[in-house]
Amino acid sequence: SAPKRTALVTGSTSGIGLAIARRLAGLGYDVAINSFEPEAAVAPVLGDLQAVSSGRIVYHQADLADEHESYRLSQDVIADLGSLDVLVNNAGIQKVAAVEQLPAADWNRIIAVSLDSAFHTIRGALAGMSERGWGRIINIASAHGLRASPYKSAYVATKHGVVGLTKSVALEVAEKGITVNAICPGYVWTPLVASQVTDQARVHNLSEDDVVRQVILAPQPTRQFVQPEEIAEMAAYLCSDWARSITGTTISIDGGWTAK
Ligand code: NAD
Repeated sequence: SAPKRTALVTGSTSGIGLAIARRLAGLGYDVAINSFEPEAAVAPVLGDLQAVSSGRIVYHQADLADEHESYRLSQDVIADLGSLDVLVNNAGIQKVAAVEQLPAADWNRIIAVSLDSAFHTIRGALAGMSERGWGRIINIASAHGLRASPYKSAYVATKHGVVGLTKSVALEVAEKGITVNAICPGYVWTPLVASQVTDQARVHNLSEDDVVRQVILAPQPTRQFVQPEEIAEMAAYLCSDWARSITGTTISIDGGWTAK
C-alpha cells in the first residue's frame, strides 16, 4: 500500500491555502496548516479540516515575514508529522500603490512573505524528500508571475521571482523523484481579492462594482473569478504519481489571461 504522505501548506487559514489543505486532508494526507495567528484564533479552521480528514491535522504558527520562523516551520512540521512530503508555498501578501508611493517596509515585507519564505521552507524540506526519493513542491505564484500590472511592483517582482526559484530548484532535484512547479492563478475570489476591491476603488476613483467589472476582471477573458477549489484540484493532481514528469513549469489557471 502507498505510504502515508504528509503536507505543509503555508498561509492556509484562508482562501487558496485553506482550499488546498482541505483537498489534501480529504485525500488522507497528514496536513500541517500555518498562519501568523495564535492557535486559538484558527480553531474553527482546524475543526473544519478535521471533519473531512482521516489523517492528522496540525497547526503551526509562524510569521513567514521572518526568515528564522520560515525555516523553523519546516523543521517543526518534520518533527511533528515525521516527514514533509508535500510542501505548498502559498502565503502571500499584496499592496496596491504606485512604485514611488510604496513604502520600503512594504516592499521588504511582500518579498519576505511571498518569496524569501519559499526559499527557507524549501531549504528545510529537500533533505528528507531526497532521502525518501519522493517529494512535491508547489509554489503558488500568480498570473503576475508571467505578466505585469501597474501599481503592483513588489507583488509582480515577487511572483516572477517565485517562478524563477521554481524552475531553478526543479532542475537541481530532477533526478530525485521530487517535482517543483508553480501554479499561476488569475483572480481567485478570496479575502485577499475582496480587500483589493476597496484599494482599487480608491486608486481608480470608481465604485466597488465598477472596479470588479472594469478593473479586476478586465484582464481575465472569462470575466469570472476562479474558485479556490479549482486551484486545490490542480495541487492534488500535481501530488499524484501521474504528475511525476511535470516539473519546473508554470500552470496557469487564469481564465485565459496569459493567452494575450
Ligand atoms: P488570503 O489573504 O485569503 O490568505 C493568505 C493566507 O496567508 C492567510 O492564511 C494568512 O493568514 C497567511 N499569511 C499572510 N501573511 C502571513 C505571514 N506573515 N505569515 C504566515 N502566514 C501569513 O490570500 P489568497 O488570495 O488565498 O492568496 C494565497 C496565495 O495565492 C498568495 O500567494 C497570493 O499571492 C496567491 N494568488 C492569489 C490570487 C487571488 O486572486 N486571490 C491570484 C493569484 C495568486
